[in-house]
This record gives sequence, structure tokens and C-alpha cells, in this order.
Amino acid sequence: MRAKSALGLLLLLNGAVAGAAVQTVDCGRLLDVKAGVWRERVSVVIDNGVVKSVAPTGAAKGDIDLSGQSCLPGLIDMHVHLTGESHKEVETLRMKLSQDVADDAYRSVAYAERTLKAGFTTVRDLGAGDGLNVSLKRAINSGAIPGPRMYTSGTAIATTGGHGDGTNGLSRELGKAVGHPTPYDGVINGPDQAREAVRARYKEGADLIKITATGGVLSQAASGQNSQFTDEELKAIAATAKDYGFRVAVHAHGVEGIKRALRAGLDSIEHGSYMDDEAIALFKKHGAYYVPTISAGRYVAEKAKDPEFFSPMVRPKAAAIGPLIQATFGKAYKAGVKIAFGTDAGVFPHGENAREFAYMVEAGMPALEAIRSATLNAAELLNQGSRLGSVEPGYAADIVAVSGDPLKDIRVLQQVQFVMKDGVVFKR
Ligand SMILES: [Zn+2]
Repeated sequence: MRAKSALGLLLLLNGAVAGAAVQTVDCGRLLDVKAGVWRERVSVVIDNGVVKSVAPTGAAKGDIDLSGQSCLPGLIDMHVHLTGESHKEVETLRMKLSQDVADDAYRSVAYAERTLKAGFTTVRDLGAGDGLNVSLKRAINSGAIPGPRMYTSGTAIATTGGHGDGTNGLSRELGKAVGHPTPYDGVINGPDQAREAVRARYKEGADLIKITATGGVLSQAASGQNSQFTDEELKAIAATAKDYGFRVAVHAHGVEGIKRALRAGLDSIEHGSYMDDEAIALFKKHGAYYVPTISAGRYVAEKAKDPEFFSPMVRPKAAAIGPLIQATFGKAYKAGVKIAFGTDAGVFPHGENAREFAYMVEAGMPALEAIRSATLNAAELLNQGSRLGSVEPGYAADIVAVSGDPLKDIRVLQQVQFVMKDGVVFKR
């Protein structure tokens, strides 16, 4: 009887600790991203994965000692492709011919973990075939595998032959065998199919919409910048997305495609390479975000020097468009365009996302603003501004820590030493 009640007490005690899940993190300093200042020697109290309080560190020691480090909110990358990574052209071809979706699925587990451990506790995944990114999101959210909190577009939406039509570059025979892609596969023509494709994303389990409004660098097609959606198609996308509570991310390099998408009231422009002054004015008029992806531009420009990395179709586009993005970003930032951090990871190896910060600072953005673009601004574009992007009461307990001061040397963000997501420690 006595033994039994002791066991009961033990269970109760364990249950209390695990159930309440209150823990305290002592930070040497914590970046208040809203005020733009360091809070010295503070302790963050977390209750069930949510920040309960932030207060000066008292006499009692917390559960997690980061007193020698600088803490920041978990970082957010608004443009990744977690279900793939680019390779040399011949390797990509070999993989296409001989590998299955399951091969991509297994590899994406490692990409997700690498991204989280690099300090990115939230990502926006902008497109994969076969619904793979929706499945990856489910696996992460269920706690089955470690990875960043994912918001995903499911399959990206393109037009026939456009950037994102997965049958581009196939021979007529192979094209016939594979069949013409439909709105369910993310290829549309005309406003009716545009609406159908948005609804198909709702059915598929997407959180947002991604469209490819102009040509792109890595597709097997001649132009990297031609307009690929009509105004009518863009309006149909915008109206249907609104009905389903989706925001719309727009891949666009060419200036006409950028302007059409902004006039249609879509939410973010990705890459934006050939943006001009009129486009900048439209960004500001409509309050749209620019997601630069300088990292991808620099990576493809570098790889274009290797005659074997890209196909003859892709290589000149990579050489022409890649180098433009960083200067475009600098111009847009100085003109007052709203910026959300995004890299296009997957075009380059996953886990190297934080290099983007250094490229942004190099182009004239102060370090604090670069950090805000990956916290406050990104959270706002995700429509999660009251829950993500800051360490304060009521917010998800997403905390990263580094040695040194990222406001003085932004490159320290490439060496994240501690990662917590929803109060769970993934790297220490
Ligand atoms: Zn992309």
C-alpha cells in the first residue's frame, strides 16, 4: 500500500513537471527586434512552448544557461525548396530518369533538419511537385522528424511551357508518354483554370499560393524574364486566393511580369531581378513585399562559369540574371520597398541560408534591418505577426543563440549554436 502511494506521488510529480513544461532560458542578452536594442541579462520563461515572460535574470539559475551568448528570435526564410537540391545537369537528368518521389522524400528529411539547425525555425516552402512539401510539413508538425515550422504553397502554379511546367525540355515522345500537365499538376491556361489550380492547392493542403509569373533561370526554356500570365489570369488567382485565405508569392524576374503581379494586388515578389523605378513605385503603392534571394543569384552566377554545370539553355540565363539581384535589392531597400528575407535554398545547399544576411549588409542594409527582415517582416508576410518573429509574451518560444554581436558582425549568424522551436531544444 505504501509502495503504491509512493509510486503514485512519483508519477504525479513527474506528470506535473512534464505537463506544465515550464522552463527558463537565461540569455546573456536578447535582441528586442521591435525596439532594435539588446536587453542585457534577461531570462525567458516558457510555458508549453509559448513565451510567458521576459524579465531581468534573478538570483535563481534557469534551466538553460545561455548567459554567455546573444539570443535572438528564431530566424525565418521566406523562400526555400526543402524537397530538393540542385545538381550538375547530367546528375539531375540521371536522377529524373532513375529515381522516385520517395528518393526526394528521404533526402528532404535531412534538408529540413539542416535548415532548422542553421537557426531557421520557420520557412515558407515555395513549390515542389507531387505534394511532397505538404507531406514534409505534416511529418514535421506531428513531431515525427526535426525541421522548421513550414508554410507551404504545395505545387507551384505555372502556364504551359512556363517556369514550373515540369514537362519543359522533354522530347515529343516523352511528353506524350507523360501527358500534358493539368491545373492539378500546377499548369493553367486562362482564368477558369487559374481558379481551379488555386482550389486544387486548397484541396492539397497548401497554406499559400506560389505562381511563376515570368520565365526563370533553372527551367529548360529560352527566356528567363518573359511574362507568362495574362492580367485576367492574375486577377483570377488573386480573387480565388482571397476566397480561401491564401496569400500569393510571385516568382518574377522580368519587369512587365513584376508590374502585372503588383497591379493585381499579389503579396510578394520573389527575385524581382529587372525591377525598375515604376515597379518600385507599384511595390510601395500596393504595400507588397520584396523577397530578394540574393544567395540564389550569386550561386547560379558562379556555377555559370562551369561549362558543365548547367545545360546550354540554362547557362546564359544564369550568367545574365544571377548577378543582377544584389544590386536590385540595394536599390529597392534604399527606395523604401518592404523586404522579407528569402534565399531560394535548394538552388544552393540547404543550411547555408544565413549567408544571405551578409549579402544584404554588403548591399547597404544595416544589420538590424536584415535581422528584422527575417523576423518581424517575414512573420508579417506570413500573417503570423502576433505569434512569430519576436521573443515576447504570447509568442512561440523560438529562440536561437550565437556568440558575439550580429549587429556588429552579421556573419556570426552563420554559426548558430543553440536552436529552440516551440520550447523544444534542437541544437545545443
Ligand atoms: Zn524558388
